Amino acid sequence: MYVWDGDGKRYLDFSGSAAVNFIGHGVSEIAAAMAEQAGKLEFVHTSQFTTAVAEEYAEELLAFAGENFRDGSVYFTSGGSESIETALKLARQYHVEIGETQRYQVISRKQSYHGATFGALSVSGNKKRREMYLQMVKEFAHVGVPYCYRCAFDCTDGCFNCGQQYASEVEQAIEASQGEAAAFVFEPVSGATLGAVVPPPGYLEKVADVCRRHGVLLIADEVMTGMGRTGRNFAVDHWGVAPDILVTAKGLSSGYAPLGAVIASKKVVDAIAKGSGAFLHGFTYNAHPVSVAAGQAVLRYLIAHGLVRAANSQESGTLAHALRQALDGLLDLPVVGDVRGVGLLLGVELVADKKTKQPFAPEKNFAPRVGQAAAEQGLLVYPMQGSVDGVSGDHLLLAPPAVMSQEQASWAVDRLRAAIETAMLS
Ligand code: PLP
Repeated sequence: MYVWDGDGKRYLDFSGSAAVNFIGHGVSEIAAAMAEQAGKLEFVHTSQFTTAVAEEYAEELLAFAGENFRDGSVYFTSGGSESIETALKLARQYHVEIGETQRYQVISRKQSYHGATFGALSVSGNKKRREMYLQMVKEFAHVGVPYCYRCAFDCTDGCFNCGQQYASEVEQAIEASQGEAAAFVFEPVSGATLGAVVPPPGYLEKVADVCRRHGVLLIADEVMTGMGRTGRNFAVDHWGVAPDILVTAKGLSSGYAPLGAVIASKKVVDAIAKGSGAFLHGFTYNAHPVSVAAGQAVLRYLIAHGLVRAANSQESGTLAHALRQALDGLLDLPVVGDVRGVGLLLGVELVADKKTKQPFAPEKNFAPRVGQAAAEQGLLVYPMQGSVDGVSGDHLLLAPPAVMSQEQASWAVDRLRAAIETAMLS
């Protein structure tokens, strides 16, 4: 659970770095698997060879992804952005292979983050991170995202109806594309940009149905939410949604090696296999043997240690359940407006006025100041700004490894309370 800085100061990793580490730091089995692989074969290029470790791991990952991905395929990359680029190109090639060559647009959501590369930036909804490059990226439709704490509709039904309205926006955007929509990409639970915002019931189900009816591929960006983080193997499992392409990274290797994966369903794979026969894409370090060895060891470790269950906040007795209860206790602080999230992907929204939900002025740097105060107390959190409109709105993202003890969880929440109080005074 701990990392030490150069001065020997110890930090409890309450954010899994940036929602990366899921199995804990310093697990020797992972280092051993990597070293063994490096000793046997450090690298081959995927245009010349595949490797036993990648083949075997892909099968294990497909099984972990569940029935929807039976007979699908996995494409390994070196991280989240590379995987998003891969998924966007895969979606385009799918449509070309089936003769729908006019489809190229990728619809996405405001306040999302899909990565730092240009393809990812074009679908990203992170205002600050894309602003400077707008002239350089291809713009497609960005639809609204249900954000229940700041619901734009005056709803009283737990956001069911407004969820349906947001899902209708996806349909309208697809119709406005006049047959050119290729895919819709979304984070099932909004990650860093909004701070663990969970969609209302019925929303993702309707989005999936809309996409299916219009022949638009559904791409789930589970870079942050995948591999057990939300208490299910993948977050889409909470709603029984079956994406055509699933993208994951971060927890995939838990940070032990640079690794991302694009998991494609049989429908997508078959279209290419029966068509041109090859996906026209590639990075030198695709399926790097040492990285996939790390990923395989991480997957086996998290299964063997029941970590997906530990991350299930809906089951009493689990770490995630206890942590959520402890965090809810912070709601008595005058600046804690909302505690949200699912599993071990949690968000704490900080506001200047709880009644009106008025955010702090961005220049007050409230969340970063809480982050700083927490670090001084030996606690790592992930502070972000921009949740309200891309500029204002402060929140903390919390995503600890699933091996945290309940004592560590309550210590962390106490320290977090103290850090928020410190920021309130300064
Ligand atoms: N997609 C989501 C949902 C993310 O949270 C991130 C990174 O935070 C990315 C994509 C990009 O991943 P990477 O930073 O590994 O390129």
